[in-house]
Amino acid sequence: MKRDYYEVLGAAKSATPQELKSAYRKLALQFHPDKNPGDASAEEKFKECTEAYEVLSDPEKRARYDRFGHQAPGGFGAGGGFSGEGFGNINDIFGDIFGEIFGGAGGGGGRGRQRNGGRSRGSDLRYNLSIGFTDAAFGTEAKIKIPRHRNCDACKGLGARAGTTAKTCPTCHGAGELRMTQGFFQISRTCAQCTGSGKVITDPCQTCRGQGKVASETTLTVKIPPGVDTGTRLKLTGEGEPGERGGPAGDLYVVVQVEEHPIFVREDTEVICEIPVSFTQAALGATIEVPTLDGKVRMKVPSGSQSGKIFRLKGKGFPALGGSAQRGDQHVRVTVEVPSSLNKKQRDLLEQFAAISGEDAHPQAKSFFAKVRELFGNEAAADDAANS
Ligand SMILES: [Zn+2]
Ligand SMILES: [Zn+2]
Repeated sequence: MKRDYYEVLGAAKSATPQELKSAYRKLALQFHPDKNPGDASAEEKFKECTEAYEVLSDPEKRARYDRFGHQAPGGFGAGGGFSGEGFGNINDIFGDIFGEIFGGAGGGGGRGRQRNGGRSRGSDLRYNLSIGFTDAAFGTEAKIKIPRHRNCDACKGLGARAGTTAKTCPTCHGAGELRMTQGFFQISRTCAQCTGSGKVITDPCQTCRGQGKVASETTLTVKIPPGVDTGTRLKLTGEGEPGERGGPAGDLYVVVQVEEHPIFVREDTEVICEIPVSFTQAALGATIEVPTLDGKVRMKVPSGSQSGKIFRLKGKGFPALGGSAQRGDQHVRVTVEVPSSLNKKQRDLLEQFAAISGEDAHPQAKSFFAKVRELFGNEAAADDAANS
């Protein structure tokens, strides 16, 4: 005959989840197999109380148990009843319920909240900021609006109504955590009453309902240094969320996104651009205007410049972020544009030009056709020339 689950845990039918948990904790510590090696009756008791707790800690299962008792249709587990075999389930619950209170039992206990006498640090915030291409080269200032909490003015962030103060927590006497020794277990857990702060507010601030902070929007001016690029992270110390109960504020990270430029492409500190020149400018030579980060400059294209030639404008690129003031270069690639249509006069002039231009005017073509002649002999080269 199965014992009543409430009876097993020594709890009233009206017990709160917290009461059930502490009742189970006490029994589990007493009967845990590790503490009672080879004791079959202790193991039985451990299984029994664990089964009871597994059912009663689940609101849905508890409701069914309260209504139908052990005869509940479908039983109380995935397999139609509590398995109790091995310690798989039990260990899950055990880890769940005891993980928090065996802090350090496994040597370190990784779940410690960042605490500073209960005054935990505020969260870090991230803000994505888009800036212009040129601003990235020279630096700028940006005004940004950040939705974040701020300390409540009425209570100065402490959560207690003005004129009153938080009282030392009666449960932990201000320590923020409770320690006890159970056999060889060293148990310490965060105090539930004060959630680790060591203080309790008996008369909460009306403005923030005892939270110590209120929702707000802050406008900040951010200095963007020269040389930033997409993905650059700027840290603004202390501009994140305020800390709990006067704890230190978190940080704000501004993540930069540099807008694309219609003409320039950036590669680290170098600027690259492509500029079309007419075939006559390329043949005769010309001085052309080139846009740079600093405005237009004049650049000489010498006569006989070929399409694809790259000219370097020294010091017209980006500075290195946080480095010296020395800037990279701008690389200007000229592309020679052939007229896409000709009027009668242009055509006549170009035909005259062609008639008097031999191979000597076009060294690349000359060397190319010389190679063709070597490969195929004079006849093939003559055919090709006739076809063009
Ligand atoms: Zn307040
Ligand atoms: Zn406390």
